[in-house]
Amino acid sequence: MIEFINVGMTYPNGNVGLKNINLTIKESEITVFIGPSGSGKTTLLKMINRLEDNTTGEVKINGKNVKDYNIHKMRWDIGYALQQVALFPHMTVEENIAIVPELKKWKKEKIDARINELLNMVGLEPEKYRKRNPSELSGGEAQRVGIARALAADPKIILMDEPFSALDPITRANLQEDVKKLQKQIHKTIVFVTHDIEEAFLLGDKICIIQDGELVQAGTKHEIISNPKNDFVKKFIAFKNFYLKRRNISN
Ligand code: ADP
Ligand code: MG
Repeated sequence: MIEFINVGMTYPNGNVGLKNINLTIKESEITVFIGPSGSGKTTLLKMINRLEDNTTGEVKINGKNVKDYNIHKMRWDIGYALQQVALFPHMTVEENIAIVPELKKWKKEKIDARINELLNMVGLEPEKYRKRNPSELSGGEAQRVGIARALAADPKIILMDEPFSALDPITRANLQEDVKKLQKQIHKTIVFVTHDIEEAFLLGDKICIIQDGELVQAGTKHEIISNPKNDFVKKFIAFKNFYLKRRNISN
């Protein structure tokens, strides 16, 4: 469980990232942060693995303040996947995936088996892809490797910051389905950032709507659709019928 208790964050230059966030993220669910560009989604996500630190309030993982964990060990247990996948260009696919397992000093055979398992899981044939360089992958393939790398050392928490927004619509739809399926198998706590309501409704068990550094509303898709808190939320979900029909998502 991840808790935000009265969390505020002001950047050193005075920009306000977040204001008084109170939120509980449940285990084994997909929680989505959605809001316009600049609303604070990435800042909120980075509070969890301490890429940024909250300036007021507390962020807790399993009841313990994130600042009281060993930062390196904590990060090994939190997978992180980004929009720009940032695979290390001088390392092969298998080397990229092996980074955290190696830091955790897993045995070579275990890492080897894990690489095959993960590549199969994200739909890339291990024999074909293990030795490739990132420059030999398409955008969608690189993104899949990025997800495999985020899952590699079996982290309990996975943070995904607009992981699919640079992809074409078909690849994107495929990967969305993959994440949903994957979540059913592995039951991770996933925190997923998007600015796309369609993606939020498709993936999110809980959807958190962020505006100007504030949490405007958090709830299930059904709760938000049936009881939008204000005009901003209404505007955000305005196209829901269109989206739900187009993607065949049940209400
Ligand atoms: P989002 O991910 O929703 O687009 P961010 O969390 O990146 O939004 O940004 C929230 C606010 O914090 C914005 O006003 C942004 O300009 C500001 N901000 C983000 N990163 C920094 C930074 N490193 N230094 C100063 N201000 C920042
Ligand atoms: Mg962002």
